[in-house]
Amino acid sequence: MKTKVVYSEKCLGYGTWHIEGPQRVKVARDILQAKGYEFVDPTPADDWALLGVHDADYLFNVKKGLVEDSDTPAYDKIFDYARLSVGGAILASKINGFSLMRPPGHHAGKSGAALGVYTRGFCYLNNIAIAVKESAKHTLILDIDGHHGNGTQEIFLGDPKVTYVSLHQSPNYPGTGDITEGNCINYSLTKDVGGKRYLETLDKALGKVDCGKFESVAVSAGFDTHQGDLASLGLIEQDYFEIGKRVALLKKPTFFVLEGGYVGEKVGLDIDSFLRGYENSI
Ligand SMILES: [Zn+2]
Repeated sequence: MKTKVVYSEKCLGYGTWHIEGPQRVKVARDILQAKGYEFVDPTPADDWALLGVHDADYLFNVKKGLVEDSDTPAYDKIFDYARLSVGGAILASKINGFSLMRPPGHHAGKSGAALGVYTRGFCYLNNIAIAVKESAKHTLILDIDGHHGNGTQEIFLGDPKVTYVSLHQSPNYPGTGDITEGNCINYSLTKDVGGKRYLETLDKALGKVDCGKFESVAVSAGFDTHQGDLASLGLIEQDYFEIGKRVALLKKPTFFVLEGGYVGEKVGLDIDSFLRGYENSI
């Protein structure tokens, strides 16, 4: 069965000039629509869900537009956009779907920029972290975005219910994730390392995880590892098919939340390839 795509046109409403702009998601939406995916509409997450992860003071500041940093602007109504993106992740967790929403989230920590990094890397609220907390399930979070999810790591470090596994480019923003800490297992890879090496590393990473203790898998699905994108690991469309296959072999209820990926056409094709790989093996 084809994975449902969680999506609302409302997420296109801000940041046309920014690299994390609406065009990246809009083009991906067109591609996935043409390929016959079914789309479902999210509703905004409520305050209680957000407070499960973020400090009240930080949420107040996002609401009031007091969260500008050099790469993460305080757009008008950004709290509403971010809350709807969180709602997308929560709905995806309930229907084992793919949330094609923005803004992304994995750099957002409990009270803003995480782990000593100055900027929040285009993120406001940590979509996947809030969805995992809401589910209250023992969860493996697999972060395949090309940047380390420092926000997600900060939120779950030491949490016995969650294991966080990330494969990412280093050196790159945010400069964290070069070492494994407790339940946060990190693999740094050099720029353009290529699909073969990437998949070997992913096999090693997943091989070390005790899947028996998880009730679900949550994937921070970033596609900026694509050759030429912001955190390129030299991956091409077919590599995402192979990654999807490996996620399916974990044999757990799984949901997916869009993170990065900044070349719209490639993002759409990569998502389709990834989901076909996943669906072919479940
Ligand atoms: Zn990224």
